[in-house]
Amino acid sequence: MTKFVYDFSEGNKELKDLLGGKGANLAEMTNMDLPVPPGFTITTEACKAYLASGREPAALAAEVDEHLKALEATMGKTLGQSDDPLLVSVRSGAKFSMPGMMETVLNIGLNDQSVRGLAAQADNERFAFDSYRRLIQMFGKTVLDIDGEHFEQALDAAKDAKGTKNDLDLDAEDLRRLVETYKQVVVDHAGREFPQEPREQMDLAVRAVFDSWNAPRAILYRRQERIPSDLGTAVNICSMVFGNLGPDSGTGVAFTRDPASGAKGVYGDYLQNAQGEDVVAGIRNTLSLHDLESLDKNSYDQLMSTMAQLEEHYRDLCDIEFTIERGKLWMLQTRVGKRTAAAAFRIATQLIDEGLIDDAEALQRVTGAQLGQLMFPRFDELATKNLIAKGMNASPGAAVGKVVFDTYTAIKWKRSGEKVILVRRETNPDDLDGMIAAQGILTSRGGKTSHAAVVARGMGKTCVCGAEELNVDTKGRHFTTKDGKVYHEGDLISIDGTSGEVFAGEVPVVDSPVVRYFEGELDLDDLDAADPSTELVRAVDRIMRTADGSRRMAVRANSDTEEDSARARRFGAQGIGLCRTEHMFLGDRRALVEALILADTDEERDRQLAELLPLQREDFAGIFDAMDGLPVTIRLLDPPLHEFLPDITELSVRVAVAEARGEAREGDLRLLQAVHKLHEQNPMLGLRGVRLGLVIPGLFEMQSRAILEAAAAHQRKGGVPRVEIMVPLVGAVQELEAIKEDIIAVARDVRSETGVHLEFLVGTMIELPRAALTAGQIAESAEFFSFGTNDLTQTTWGFSRDDVEAAFFSHYLEKGIFGVSPFESLDREGVGELVRIGAERGRAVRPGLKLGVCGEHGGDPDSVHFFNEVGLDYVSCSPFRVPVARLEAGRANG
Ligand code: PEP
Ligand code: MG
Repeated sequence: MTKFVYDFSEGNKELKDLLGGKGANLAEMTNMDLPVPPGFTITTEACKAYLASGREPAALAAEVDEHLKALEATMGKTLGQSDDPLLVSVRSGAKFSMPGMMETVLNIGLNDQSVRGLAAQADNERFAFDSYRRLIQMFGKTVLDIDGEHFEQALDAAKDAKGTKNDLDLDAEDLRRLVETYKQVVVDHAGREFPQEPREQMDLAVRAVFDSWNAPRAILYRRQERIPSDLGTAVNICSMVFGNLGPDSGTGVAFTRDPASGAKGVYGDYLQNAQGEDVVAGIRNTLSLHDLESLDKNSYDQLMSTMAQLEEHYRDLCDIEFTIERGKLWMLQTRVGKRTAAAAFRIATQLIDEGLIDDAEALQRVTGAQLGQLMFPRFDELATKNLIAKGMNASPGAAVGKVVFDTYTAIKWKRSGEKVILVRRETNPDDLDGMIAAQGILTSRGGKTSHAAVVARGMGKTCVCGAEELNVDTKGRHFTTKDGKVYHEGDLISIDGTSGEVFAGEVPVVDSPVVRYFEGELDLDDLDAADPSTELVRAVDRIMRTADGSRRMAVRANSDTEEDSARARRFGAQGIGLCRTEHMFLGDRRALVEALILADTDEERDRQLAELLPLQREDFAGIFDAMDGLPVTIRLLDPPLHEFLPDITELSVRVAVAEARGEAREGDLRLLQAVHKLHEQNPMLGLRGVRLGLVIPGLFEMQSRAILEAAAAHQRKGGVPRVEIMVPLVGAVQELEAIKEDIIAVARDVRSETGVHLEFLVGTMIELPRAALTAGQIAESAEFFSFGTNDLTQTTWGFSRDDVEAAFFSHYLEKGIFGVSPFESLDREGVGELVRIGAERGRAVRPGLKLGVCGEHGGDPDSVHFFNEVGLDYVSCSPFRVPVARLEAGRANG
């Protein structure tokens, strides 16, 4: 028979699936002989059975009876006993902590009789009524679904009547009256009396925890975080200990190291004469742990040794909740604590040095996302700052600029050389151009999945959202802070997207020391030990070495300039995975490309191609220099040609105006004709990629010639070019075969002209579903595949990659349809399946086929793990993401 209830002494920390995180850790601490108040856990299995049938499983009540009896025997009193009540807390505890779930009801077992018993036992009437009013308040809110405001108002009224703001000033009589008021609130808003029967209180609270698994916020959170919806939650029933018994009691939270900086040494807050959430609720000023030492040395010493014991046992930073009841310490909770990115790296290496973990484990204790955060520029830690608001840290980085309130002004000021911060209540797709023009975005509404947050992250732009204490008046062109200060358009502010802080004025920005390390600017043997970033840089260095030692996949960069390639190499790139040649056709060269497109005779076209040839050759020569000895994948022209021509609307207007004035020029008319001819409704699905190569004679040959001539010259100089020519947007092997033939013919010519024998590969992008499905055929011709997961996502989902994120992804994210944009993190089930199929079918035909990925996903941590799993040889990403990809490739294979 399934066992539904476990005494704390029966579990351990590995049983999170069954006992939830809180229950498993309470059990672990109990078995470590730490002072945990006795109690038991109702399992997630019981919750699942309840959710499936709408009723508690038949066997549950008897098991709870049995465990409650045992608990009562241990404690020497029964639940709610009128002269000396046993009181318990009921707390939810899922495997993953989840906002939106019911959290805690304390003091269960109190009623109109037992409150007097408690008062007599504790010799403290005030304490007893304070505990009772807390029970009614928590029970009313979380079990009976009464809006908490009603209780808050009654409490405020009681304090007002007393002429105080401090709840400690309410005496026993005030609290007794408050209890009566609260009971009336329950009758008024729940339509029933507050239950006096202790066991009924407990059972209703347990059921409320079960039900809260399916609260709308919990469901949404699970969808977004991809937490399975069928895990259920456990419920912990724990005998109460009291931090509100007087000045020799209190409650606190603590960390075994500083979770912000990673500095060694405990860190925490303590509140005297308080219970439950009081510490974090900010109702009174808390004390530091240091103050506790002078208040109660014994408890302090015991707390310190307990924390040391926990760290050693969990081999990690732990956070804890504790209560001191009349000088006796009790541990109410522990878990491996959350921490900042810098703290994660520092703590991981401290733990190696302390002999608690090895290098391989330290690698698993940090993430690519954390490393990415450490690479953003940030505000000078030593600068004085004037904090004016705090919002959500929606997109990291540090941005300084003048406040603007609309897109028009953002663009206008940007054009005149100003740096601006776009401040809005919330953003919508109309604000996009303003967001692009701004250094950063600040909103007063919306969470991490709001439009502003999603779009800013997509653009890599600093964003603080949901700074609710700001009152933004876009029409009046100002915003007001909580303390009434007004900031007008043009005022300078600084926003920190990593912490969510907003500062007045300009805060100096410094380069990340981690980037300086990757750039090779720091001498690790000669760092200033007093500088707080020294330990961080050393930690990053140590962990990166472990990552490089344990990864199977190589990491390349997407780069199309010599400078970016050189930087990518400094960052550890092992080649170029994607050189987008279209980027070389912009700027001054656009006129040449325009002339090529307009050419209406073969001779004219050949002439234009011949002009482009030496320019392209020079581009490639620079990249071969920067990447000497490493593979360089150069992709032939991909985007539709109209991208190189003027905008159709602008040009039409210009020509119409000129015609009306009788000044139309022949060239403009021809240009307009060409623009019309090339105009496509869906250019992303139109004449682009390999299709261009097949339609425009000589184009791909010119590019191949430029690549091969540059490589031949590099080889003749004594260099080692490792050339890979890549054909984009292939959907059928026949397309590739035709282009490959042309490339081989060009190679033959180059060889006879230069006398240099070059090795090179011809391969293709796999970025259309058909290419993935027919990868077996394509591999007959292709010597390598590079998965273009940007286009593959676009074509698999049918999402226009240029439009959807701004148009409606914020709605999809809010509704939990996906937790993250599939353009950001690979959709494993859909797009990923095509990658897996493409890899398998390609390798089945050509066993040594080299496989890589060059879509944005190549630098996304979660996606990197997937690519490792399906056996790709390398990932390629933007130079700045290279360290992140190295780290994650190491973790994936660790
Ligand atoms: C891709 O589609 O994933 C890719 C890398 O090519 P681009 O982004 O240039 O279309
Ligand atoms: Mg593509």
